[in-house]
Amino acid sequence: MADYKQPCIHCGTLIDRDARFCPTCASSSPFGFLCPTCLRPIEKGQALCAGCGRPLYIICPVCGGRTFVQETCENCGTRLTIRCPNARCGVMQFYENTKCTACGKKIKDKYRVLTPSAPAAQNPPR
Ligand SMILES: [Zn+2]
Ligand SMILES: [Zn+2]
Ligand SMILES: [Zn+2]
Ligand SMILES: [Zn+2]
Repeated sequence: MADYKQPCIHCGTLIDRDARFCPTCASSSPFGFLCPTCLRPIEKGQALCAGCGRPLYIICPVCGGRTFVQETCENCGTRLTIRCPNARCGVMQFYENTKCTACGKKIKDKYRVLTPSAPAAQNPPR
């Protein structure tokens, strides 16, 4: 294996090119953005995923701003990924995913909770 490292696009840590995860920020796509649903490579600016057709821009449920489907909200910095509830998997999943892209386990609504990065007003219960 060549001793060749590349910076993680999310946090800048130099990691092995063949790494599947960034050890610093736990991103599962350290060298490029991946569709959170079908894991196809995507680029900022694209409106829809060419693989599954999901929108690549969403409204952040925390700040209400429009953001690319990346690990953190472009506006408020809230992490938009949650850990797969399967203890033996634990792969970070986009919060909208209804099942884990790694192990296929269904992700129940109660796990799809985002923690705002900054102290913000509590969302009023609906
Ligand atoms: Zn990283
Ligand atoms: Zn897709
Ligand atoms: Zn936000
Ligand atoms: Zn999983």
